Amino acid sequence: AMPTSGDASGALPHPHVVLLPSAGMGHLVPFSRLAVSLSSPGHGCGVSVATVLPTVSSAESAHLDALFGACPAVRRLDFHLAPFDASEFPGADPFFLRFEAMRRSAPLLGPLLAGAGALALVTDIALASVVIPVARDLRLPCYVLFTASAAMLSLCVHFPAYLDANAGGPVGDVGIPGVYRVPKASIPQALHHPEHLFTQQFVANGRELAKADGLLVNSFDAFEPEAIAALRNGSVAAGFPPVFSVGPLAPVSFSASEPPENQADYMRWLEAQPARSVVYVSFGSRKAISKDQLRELAVGLEASGHRFLWVVKSTVVDRDDEAELSELLGEGFLERVQGRGMVTKGWVEQEEVLKQESIGLFISHCGWNSVTEAAANGLPVLAWPRFGDQRVNAGVVARSGLGVWEERWSWEGEEGTVSGHNIAEKVKTVMADKTVRNKAVSVQDAAAEAVADGGTSYRSLAQFVQRCRDLS
Ligand code: UDP
Ligand code: UDP
Repeated sequence: AMPTSGDASGALPHPHVVLLPSAGMGHLVPFSRLAVSLSSPGHGCGVSVATVLPTVSSAESAHLDALFGACPAVRRLDFHLAPFDASEFPGADPFFLRFEAMRRSAPLLGPLLAGAGALALVTDIALASVVIPVARDLRLPCYVLFTASAAMLSLCVHFPAYLDANAGGPVGDVGIPGVYRVPKASIPQALHHPEHLFTQQFVANGRELAKADGLLVNSFDAFEPEAIAALRNGSVAAGFPPVFSVGPLAPVSFSASEPPENQADYMRWLEAQPARSVVYVSFGSRKAISKDQLRELAVGLEASGHRFLWVVKSTVVDRDDEAELSELLGEGFLERVQGRGMVTKGWVEQEEVLKQESIGLFISHCGWNSVTEAAANGLPVLAWPRFGDQRVNAGVVARSGLGVWEERWSWEGEEGTVSGHNIAEKVKTVMADKTVRNKAVSVQDAAAEAVADGGTSYRSLAQFVQRCRDLS
């Protein structure tokens, strides 16, 4: 029996590709975009998405419901995890714990994939080192979707070799062969600690990647020319498998069918604002900002004099978010900015927000999905990376001209907060700078060209599908 939901009675188109995302919206979003794209008539694959319930955050569960509701061609495959005792990792990030629970359950994937009749598997990078051997035993072609930048992929591939050569010394600047030097300050915090759960997973995954049948990356050749070329020509690692740069993956809009009267308040407000007048502020779905920094950000946005839409996140997992906005942002703030600033603690439809004419600047943590969405919309980014891969991604933003990065601004684990005054000055400068805007529009043009018929990303995805057909 096929353990699928949805229209389990109909035959699946050939080849049947199973997608295996890990945890967190940053991983789920590109997977659902890939699922929809592969199942579209243009590519014609049968697609299943392996899901673990319950999800860590409610954003993920809402996203999955919307995906399976709106796209019956994409099927759900329930992945039941083995019992996992999280007390082994006191204080660990809940998303990393889910990665670990999934990694330890990898042996259970064998029967699941065989029963589902999978002809190819696309696993998340966070699970790669344990899933690739399972697929090999099944003689199932196994690809890895890398959910961050190609620059980060090149770091992931090179980092184990760097550690081996470094013989236990502290991690410094990392020169990636054929790419560029990633300064020590931009290396994800966890990678400075060899015993960290993330580091152990990251190094294990990096070592195993060469054994994948190929890598998919949500980036495009013109956006990250150095990293993509170096991965392909063997500079980063000799004999590395094919790299399919398929980005920016097209967003899947689930809300398009909503009647206008159901439109959220912030969307109605955005539609009423002048072109390019609003600063959109979001630090993604994964991390909270300290209370002191939230207050300074409030001061900065108020003092900038610009309109703004600010998505405030004060806890790591959305289900825990109980704090009151007025209490977080300081006495009287919401009253003073009324009409000029919108602040929300809820989930916003970022894709819809970024499409609005009224948005002029995106203050972003540079989660890779946010970066690719800004690129697709030609929206200038003021990069404020906070953690993990975000400084590496901010480097791509600055190099490509998609935006500017104030490198001295704080990073999780560093002392100090950025003052409201500095934030206000930077926002004013960037909002007034026409060349920043023009460069972002050139990135948008290049992105559109990459995904159009015959473009680099279009051809890369078609080649990937062709391989799945040929190998199966
Ligand atoms: N997102 C959204 N609404 C929110 C917060 C995030 O739609 O309120 C989406 C965003 O558009 C992106 C994803 O969630 O597609 C977050 O991924 P990203 O890589 O940008 O950052 P992460 O949340 O993983 O740090
Ligand atoms: N990553 C990686 N190797 C791993 C796990 C993650 O290269 O073993 C990448 C992943 O693509 C992500 C980044 O490192 O973009 C940071 O990881 P995390 O899962 O925290 O990403 P987030 O949830 O913030 O998007």
